[in-house]
Amino acid sequence: MGAQPETAPAVVCRGAGIWKVEDVQVDTNLQPREVLVEVTASGLCHTDLLFASMASAEMGSILGHEGAGRVRAVGLQVQDLSPGDVVLLSFASCTACQPCTTGHPAFCDNFNTINFAMRRLPDMTTPFSTIGQPSVPLGGQYFGQSSFARLAVVNMTSVVKVSGLLSPEELPKFAALGCGFQTGAGAIVNIAKAVPQDTVAVYGCGGVGLAAIMAAKAIGCRQIIAIDRVPARLDMAKTVGATHTVVSSEDVVQDVKKITGGNGTTISLDCVGRLSVIEQALAGTARTGALVLIGAAPPTDVLQLPASAFMMSGKRILGCSEGDSTPSTVTGEVNAAFYVLLTIAGQPKDILQAVEDMETGAVVKPVIQW
Ligand SMILES: [Zn+2]
Ligand SMILES: [Zn+2]
Repeated sequence: MGAQPETAPAVVCRGAGIWKVEDVQVDTNLQPREVLVEVTASGLCHTDLLFASMASAEMGSILGHEGAGRVRAVGLQVQDLSPGDVVLLSFASCTACQPCTTGHPAFCDNFNTINFAMRRLPDMTTPFSTIGQPSVPLGGQYFGQSSFARLAVVNMTSVVKVSGLLSPEELPKFAALGCGFQTGAGAIVNIAKAVPQDTVAVYGCGGVGLAAIMAAKAIGCRQIIAIDRVPARLDMAKTVGATHTVVSSEDVVQDVKKITGGNGTTISLDCVGRLSVIEQALAGTARTGALVLIGAAPPTDVLQLPASAFMMSGKRILGCSEGDSTPSTVTGEVNAAFYVLLTIAGQPKDILQAVEDMETGAVVKPVIQW
């Protein structure tokens, strides 16, 4: 017989945009490839807001995919992790498909089912349920982790050991490495493969966009143009490496072309996920340049292209999931001096404020501390 379920506080999404702090039951009987993590911090990401906007009211679910904490127990097949290890949590992958076995787990064939089914595969169970009789299952295993809970049962492929690199006290500052930071930095380094000669435009300066700017700055890209609707974010973008800033408007393309001597940028990053912005970013991209799509657009959105003009332009449009990063190597991107600027930590009860701050752009990276 297994252990009795434990009680832990969690932020439960109970319908479109409805967040509740509740005590939930956590089944701590681990499957062989799972890790029990005591979560100390969870970053809020725009993907959480997107999923929350589509959530059903019937079944509550636990989101959160930028977790950080300590390992309490490991399943039978988990190697290289032990109780007490300090860890960051990232996305999960199947480890068996063609992208996974060739070093691109962020493009895993099974990414959507593993990360978004809100259930374990293949048995479709969930470690979370409500307290009381009858106990009702709650969606979990989102991004392999569902870390908007103090106790999380995590897919081992989501776990990145950072013992010796980060102290437990530092975790709130680094929770976003598991998604936002590696996505933005990876878009520049792994997807666009930027070099110092590149000119870069970043549309949307949230956590992802700012991480991209930091990476472009580290590479020494000669122009880095930050574009956002919130002036305070543009100030922050300058602090982390932007050479130019542009307030979002209908004239963005002209502004970008003016800064780049009429050419447009050789690398454009859409970190917004809105078709109107993607169209601007493509128009502002130089001939033979690359547009990288990073923002999470609604699944029904379809991008239309003038086929002939696009062919003649030599431009490339590149998809980017999680920066094509491999979570176990994310620690190479740990950068305390920069990331500390971007985080504001709050308690679970502050979740509504955190969501509002993220939507208005007042805070780049709200983090829940457990
Ligand atoms: Zn895979
Ligand atoms: Zn994310």
